[in-house]
This record gives sequence, C-alpha cells and structure tokens, in this order.
Amino acid sequence: MKTINKKTVKTISCDQAIKLVFSYIDDEIRGTHRAELEHHLETCRHCFDRVAFEKLLKSRLRRLNVGGSSKRLRQRIDTLLEQF
Ligand SMILES: [Zn+2]
Repeated sequence: MKTINKKTVKTISCDQAIKLVFSYIDDEIRGTHRAELEHHLETCRHCFDRVAFEKLLKSRLRRLNVGGSSKRLRQRIDTLLEQF
C-alpha cells in the first residue's frame, strides 16, 4: 500500500469531514480523501466521536437488519446529533 506523506495532506474542515464519514465507514473512499479524513480525525475529537458513533450505529442496524428501511430513523438521528 502506498504511503501518503502527512505533510502533503490537505487540512479539511469539519463540514468536509462529515461528508466523507459515511463513505469512509462503508469503505468507499481511498487515497487522498481517505488520508485527508484520517488526518482530520487525528486532530478533531468531535469528528472522531462521530465516526465511532456511526460505526457502532451501523453495526447495530445491520444486526437488527433494518438497513434499507432506516432512512427516517437516520434523519432522526442526524437531527439529534445536530443538537448534540
Ligand atoms: Zn472535525
């Protein structure tokens, strides 16, 4: 695997990081975007917690087998998180 030099990794904002979180959890991002997000997570506790939460949630939902029909639930959780 190619190592990406941390110094060349662009600093991204929390807004940009959050947009990448779902793809990251689904293992859909590679290379630069992944490095940018991981770099952000190393420096941002808030987004790190968000990823940890989403991962937990995803594994719970998968266990409950509600994946596809959970869009409304998802929105409720997002609303809750914004108030968090
Ligand atoms: Zn952040």
